[in-house]
Amino acid sequence: MNAKLFIYNTLTRKKELFEPLHPPGVGLYVCGPTVYGDPHLGHARPAIIFDLLFRYLTHLSYKVRYVRNITDVGHLEHDADDGEDKIARKARIEQLEPMEIVQYYMNSYHDRMRELNVLPPTIEPMASGHIIEQQQMVSQLLYNDYAYISNGSVYFDIEKYREKYNYGKLSGRNIEDLLKASRELEKKADKKNPLDFALWKKAEPGHIMQWPSPWSNGFPGWHLECSVMSRKYLGEQFDIHGGGMDLIFPHHECEIAQTVGYQGKESVRYWMHNNMITINGQKMGKSLGNAILLQEFFTGNHKLLDKAYSPMTIRFFILQAHYRSPLDFSNEALQATEKGLERLMEGIKNLNKIIPSEKSTIDPSRIEKNFYEAMNDDLNSPVAISGLFDGIREINSVIAGKDTLTAPEIEKLKNIYRTFVYDILGIYDISKTSENKELQHDLINLLLKMRIEARNNKDFKTSDRIRNELEKLGVEIHDTKDGFEYKI
Ligand code: ZN
Repeated sequence: MNAKLFIYNTLTRKKELFEPLHPPGVGLYVCGPTVYGDPHLGHARPAIIFDLLFRYLTHLSYKVRYVRNITDVGHLEHDADDGEDKIARKARIEQLEPMEIVQYYMNSYHDRMRELNVLPPTIEPMASGHIIEQQQMVSQLLYNDYAYISNGSVYFDIEKYREKYNYGKLSGRNIEDLLKASRELEKKADKKNPLDFALWKKAEPGHIMQWPSPWSNGFPGWHLECSVMSRKYLGEQFDIHGGGMDLIFPHHECEIAQTVGYQGKESVRYWMHNNMITINGQKMGKSLGNAILLQEFFTGNHKLLDKAYSPMTIRFFILQAHYRSPLDFSNEALQATEKGLERLMEGIKNLNKIIPSEKSTIDPSRIEKNFYEAMNDDLNSPVAISGLFDGIREINSVIAGKDTLTAPEIEKLKNIYRTFVYDILGIYDISKTSENKELQHDLINLLLKMRIEARNNKDFKTSDRIRNELEKLGVEIHDTKDGFEYKI
C-alpha cells in the first residue's frame, strides 16, 4: 500500500498519484458489455486491462469494490436516441423473450472471460434491475430543471446545464462547434436541441422492453444506468471510472452531466480509458467483417486467422501493449506473442532445474523493483513484462552454467514469477493445465485399481473408503462388468 501508483486521468490529461478517498477501500466502476451478441476481440481489451488494475490494486492490499455493469436495456441502434433497442430487435427477429437473449449472451460473455482468466467483478448489476432507481434520477433531474418532458420522453437539457457547468470537459470537444454543426442538421421534433440526450424514452407501439413511469410506458436512456448504478454501489463519490476510449463521448460526458445535474458535484476522481484495437491496421467493425469473435480466435475458425490462438496468447498480447496505446492485431504479431509466452513459461520451469550454489551472481530484487516501477507508472505492463524477460535470460544463463544462484534466491525468484505472472498479469501455464488434467486422470485410475484389488482381497473397508473419499471429491463412480467407469 506504500507503493506510489500513478495513473493517467483522462479528465486532467496528466498522470496523478493515486490516492483513494477511503483507503484501504477502492471504488472501481467499469462500463460492461451490451449483451446482444457473442463477445468479440473488442470486448477483451477493457476486460483484461481493468482486470489487471483490479488484480494490481488487490495485490497492493487495497480492498477493491469492482462494479461492472451489464447493459441489457436502452442501448439503441446507432448509439443515439433513435432506432430500436438492439436486444429487443434480436428478440423480435428470433421470437424470444428479451431476457432469453440477455441470459444467453451474458453466459457467453462470462464463459469467454473465464477462459481469458478475467476475474469476475465484485458486483455485476444489470440495467433492467435498476429501473426504479433510474426513474428516481430522472425525477430529480426534472425537479432540478436540467431535464424536460416532450411527448412522453424526457431529455437532458444541455443548454441549461451549460449555464452553470462545462459540458465537454472530459472529451475536450468544442461544444460550440458541435452545437453549430448539429443545429444545421435536421432538428428532432421532440428535442429542444439536437445535442440533448434521452433520459427516458416513450416506447413505440410493439416495443417489447418497457416499464410504466409518470411520463410514459417506456425505457431508460443508455447513459443513465451508469450514473445510477455507480452511485448506488459506490456512493456519491468514488475513485476510478474506466472504459474504452470510444465511450468518452458521448457516454461518459453524458454520465458526468447527469450526475452533476443530480447531485451538484462530480462523482469520479480518476477517469481511465483504454485505447482501441485495430485488425491488420483497420478499424474493427461488424460492417468490415473483421470483428472476430473470441471463440473464433480460440478455434481458429475465421477467414482472417491462420490458426487458433489460445486465450492466454490473446491475454498476453493485450498486456504487451500499454493500455493507452492503440493495438494492432495480426497473425504475425500473435505468433510472435505465442513464442514469447512459451519462452516465459519455459524460463519459469527452468527455475526448478537450477542446482543451488554458495553464491549468487544475480540479484532477484532488481527484477522485483523493475516490475513495481513499471506497474506504478500508469500500469506500464509492456515495460513490466520486458523486465520479466530480462530475468528469464538471467535464469537461462544460470542453467547454461554462466551465472549462479543460492537456494534462498532461487525461492525468491520462484515467488516473484508466481506473484507477477500468475497473480498480477493473470497468465497461467496452459501446458501445465493439460499436464495437470492427465495427472488427475492417472491418479483416479490408480486409486480405482487399488479399490478393485482391495475388493478382490475382501478388504471392503479400504475399497469403500476409496469410493467414498473420491465421491466426496466429486468423482462419480460406476462399476461395470470389466471394472469401472468414472465421471468428474
Ligand atoms: Zn457506462
